[in-house]
Amino acid sequence: MEASIIKQENGKVSFVLSGFKLSLVNALRRAIINSVETLAIEDVTVYKNTSTMYDEVLASRLGLIPLKTFPELKKSKKEFTFKLKEMGPKAVHASDLVPSDKDVIPVYGDMLIINLREGEAVELEAKAVFGNGSEHAKFSPGHAFYHFYPQISIKSGSVKNASKIAALCPVNILEGSGDSLSVKKGKLQECILCKACEDFAGEDVIKISSDPDKVVFVVESWGQLEPKEIMSEAIDALSDEVSEISANV
Ligand code: SF4
Repeated sequence: MEASIIKQENGKVSFVLSGFKLSLVNALRRAIINSVETLAIEDVTVYKNTSTMYDEVLASRLGLIPLKTFPELKKSKKEFTFKLKEMGPKAVHASDLVPSDKDVIPVYGDMLIINLREGEAVELEAKAVFGNGSEHAKFSPGHAFYHFYPQISIKSGSVKNASKIAALCPVNILEGSGDSLSVKKGKLQECILCKACEDFAGEDVIKISSDPDKVVFVVESWGQLEPKEIMSEAIDALSDEVSEISANV
């Protein structure tokens, strides 16, 4: 079994897994989405709200703000609170929440919570707790998906409409000039198997298939945790679940 990283950028990591059973790969995907714990606002006490937004809608918006999460904080079982007291006219953003812990803060400070008009006021206290995606999607740490490793075979010799075929590729991994068509160096794994090129040019020109023993796995974080932390937490959660099953069988 092998795993190798292809690309890491802005909270997103792609890697190739080979020799893994597909059921295990899918279990990992599900563990990432459902079992990794993150912090999110769960309880909101509204002291004052003279805006046009209902308290429930305001609380729901607060719950969807990704909060910086440190897995080690789970052990301390601390409560993390945020206070908000604002008066319009003002665009109130996530960065206006005053945290009880300087490390547990909104990941994206410029997320808009509410636009207060002249004379409107909001005063509330919000409590953040740990939870996972199986309880509510707001706790999910990110998006995880996989696809089989692509295989592209291009006919040797001259290719008609090479540049047109290359231009059809939505992820821009084909190179076409004159009558020559090729896959850009190091870009093969980025093929999303859409077959737009094959549908246009025909299988005899470019044939798209996939290797069933290898998958490209992608994890994109919503910001609470780094992709590496998400993977490590998901593997721990998966192994806890397996131990629980074997202890009860
Ligand atoms: S299958 Fe789609 S993504 Fe892959 S090379 Fe063809 S057009 Fe590009």
